[in-house]
Amino acid sequence: QNLNYNLRQNYNKSSLQYLVLKPYREELKATIKSRGIKPKLVGFLANEDPAAVKYAESTSKTCEETGVTFELRKCDKEQLEDQIVEANEDDSIHGIMIYYPVFGDRQDQYLQNVVSASKDVEGLCHKYIYNMYHNKRYLDEKQTKKCIIPCTPLAIVKVLEYIGVYNSVLPYGDRLHGRVITIINRSEIVGRPLAALLANDGGKVYSVDINNIQEFHRGTGLKLKKHEVRDTNLKIEEILPFSDVVVTGVPTPSYKVPTDLLRDGVVAINFSAFKNFNDNIKEKASIYVPAVGKVTIAMLERNLLRLYDYHNYQS
Ligand code: NAD
Repeated sequence: QNLNYNLRQNYNKSSLQYLVLKPYREELKATIKSRGIKPKLVGFLANEDPAAVKYAESTSKTCEETGVTFELRKCDKEQLEDQIVEANEDDSIHGIMIYYPVFGDRQDQYLQNVVSASKDVEGLCHKYIYNMYHNKRYLDEKQTKKCIIPCTPLAIVKVLEYIGVYNSVLPYGDRLHGRVITIINRSEIVGRPLAALLANDGGKVYSVDINNIQEFHRGTGLKLKKHEVRDTNLKIEEILPFSDVVVTGVPTPSYKVPTDLLRDGVVAINFSAFKNFNDNIKEKASIYVPAVGKVTIAMLERNLLRLYDYHNYQS
């Protein structure tokens, strides 16, 4: 009840995000201060996308507040690969991120793999993505090093944990059992990894893109150890009324989720730079989260500190 009260009182963009990220940011700040360390993150900006520029500015401000050294390196697309290689080899740099899209095609996937896994704060290289899709949660046999999870999907998981969509009574790894979640976006950076993460945690996930709707699930009674995917012939009108959670990331200003199709009390989360929900969403949703960018940056810093420690434990 208290939680609901707080959320309703803070029913705006920055506050809900702030409530979610606050404990992570405070822990990070305290750790950096008490250990006297100076983790360094380098961000590469090779596009003119205003959303990327805004994200870079916001990252810089947050890093300054938490004690992380952040350096933004602007460069030409064609120079980016060499610059990443140089940063991979530079021991003073602990984390590398790239503001996508750069080329906007498969070359971006190649660039994700040029970043060394030991510095990949975004969790987008093959090793981390593979582990995530295969529900492999640790990097080592002794289970001391957790895998790095892509930042935006991880931020959305943290929002869902905070607002209680994850049922903490259930065992870790099964806490979304019984939840139906629709994700409108199946990009390789956010939508598809998010669908896999939520299905691995026990949810039944409908993944919607411009072409079709897929179902990600672990079977009845969560019989499967990791999620499987099947194509469906379903239409969005058929799944929205049964979805407990609807997450949207359609990168166009004209796209709006029809509020009348949503179930009363839905949890509505938008991560697109554009508002994918109409203003009347607040009349239907129990919780509406209009953006997750700030939580994403907190996860970026959290991943950075993990990589910093993994590097130091190894040496
Ligand atoms: P993308 O272009 O790679 O993917 C867009 C996805 O939306 C695709 O799966 C596409 O099929 C789907 N789509 C497009 N139109 C649709 C429609 N009419 N119906 C159903 N599906 C449709 O984009 P992206 O990189 O995933 O980014 C999406 C948005 O999220 C952008 O606005 C971006 O700025 C934002 N973003 C936010 C964060 C954050 O807040 N942390 C992080 C990454 C991206």
